[in-house]
Amino acid sequence: MKEITSEEFEGEVLNGGKVILDFYSTECPPCEALASKFEDLSRLYGNDIEFLKIFRQGNRELSERLGVKSSPTLLFYNEGQETAPRLTGGIKRSDIIRNLDSMIPAGRVKEIKSLIRPSVSEFDVIILGAGPGGLTAGLYLCQSKINTVLIDIALPGGHVSTTHEISNYPGFIEPQAGYMLSHSMSEQTKLCGTIYKVAVDVTRVDLERKEVVIDEYETVKAKRIIIATGTTPNLTGAPGEKELKGKGISYCATCDAKYYDDKEVLVIGGGNSAVEESEYITRFVSKLTIVHQFDKLTANKQAQDRIFKNPKINILFENEPRAFIREGDKIVTEVENVKSKERQKLISDGVFIFIGMKPNIDLFRDKLALDQWGYIKTDEDMRTSIQGVYAVGDVISKKYRQITTAVADGTIAAMAIAKELD
Ligand SMILES: Cc1cc2nc3c(=O)[nH]c(=O)nc-3n(C[C@H](O)[C@H](O)[C@H](O)COP(=O)(O)OP(=O)(O)OC[C@H]3O[C@@H](n4cnc5c(N)ncnc54)[C@H](O)[C@@H]3O)c2cc1C
Repeated sequence: MKEITSEEFEGEVLNGGKVILDFYSTECPPCEALASKFEDLSRLYGNDIEFLKIFRQGNRELSERLGVKSSPTLLFYNEGQETAPRLTGGIKRSDIIRNLDSMIPAGRVKEIKSLIRPSVSEFDVIILGAGPGGLTAGLYLCQSKINTVLIDIALPGGHVSTTHEISNYPGFIEPQAGYMLSHSMSEQTKLCGTIYKVAVDVTRVDLERKEVVIDEYETVKAKRIIIATGTTPNLTGAPGEKELKGKGISYCATCDAKYYDDKEVLVIGGGNSAVEESEYITRFVSKLTIVHQFDKLTANKQAQDRIFKNPKINILFENEPRAFIREGDKIVTEVENVKSKERQKLISDGVFIFIGMKPNIDLFRDKLALDQWGYIKTDEDMRTSIQGVYAVGDVISKKYRQITTAVADGTIAAMAIAKELD
């Protein structure tokens, strides 16, 4: 592995053979997350592919010329030509390997793979998920001098890092940008000494044995596991939804309704959360239209009664969204009547989607006691049905899912574990 400068770019890269080039920056958590993977892979692939690093801030002109806009960015060259898709952000080991494998003959790939030796590391506690719940547990455990590793399939921060503004987390007078709040939480926990293994693939989780295999070859063992994997909102799947997520389409009323003062919004859904959240949203908006697929709401009767009396709310029954399109500062939602198949366009300032969240438990779904909605059941100390396995935050069965409640769960689990391991 070698560090180069702009002056060496032509000789080393354009006139070189097979090259992987890492544009990195300082004070860049995703760059730190990549560094050990890059070094490790250079030992495996280094005889076939040149591993080069270049400091982005010190080589700005070259970065701009190559269109490198974020750190880290990995570029792959063969005989001076870019040869595989660029990788940026929270880069996974498996994505780098896919690109590297595409640059060398299949036989050689097989030889290299045979050199991979599984590794095993041991900790007191494994935390799966580095959102507010996991990060808080990590902080408390670390401060109790308990050897802890935080494992996340993405970069640390969870939902908070992608939330525009947080105005209800205590301790801050002004609303905080979500990414800053999650960055501060993450740095505080890291500074304490908690080990991070982030932007990894979680290959297997054995809750009974307290073992987690990451990136296929690395086994992490511990005495306790905390599951803090949070939830994922269900998507409608209509075209345009993913692109407009956070840019006019929201999945959280508490977070975003306040930005729609005197505006008109659509709510997709008709269950308890859609109806209850709609009621909350009408504190702000001038008009709200609920789009629901059935001919009746499925929310509880009391909530329905309140909704029907609310003069700001209209309901469009038996319709489903088919597409979301941004037109200027409006969102056009194309809806289809499920019976007549007739389509119409509804114009609004924003769209809220409440068609349920799903807990991220795919890797251990069958092993734990769950509530009827698939959330993990815990006792008051956050213990699950499996000895030595705890769960915190949005992934557990509870009434209110907020940052403060996830942070509280993380605190409780860590203190309970600290007491047990004492
Ligand atoms: C758009 C939006 C806005 C919100 N705004 C607010 C707000 O203003 N105020 C407020 O209090 N709350 C808000 N919330 C709710 C708040 O974000 C959550 O309650 C909180 O983030 C829950 O924290 P958590 O640690 O339980 O889970 P999450 O924040 O969901 O973090 C879970 C972490 O686990 C990781 N993970 C998932 N699967 C795995 C796996 N198999 N292995 C390892 N890691 C895994 C994820 O990558 C993620 O980093 C908002 C939620 C959303 C969706």
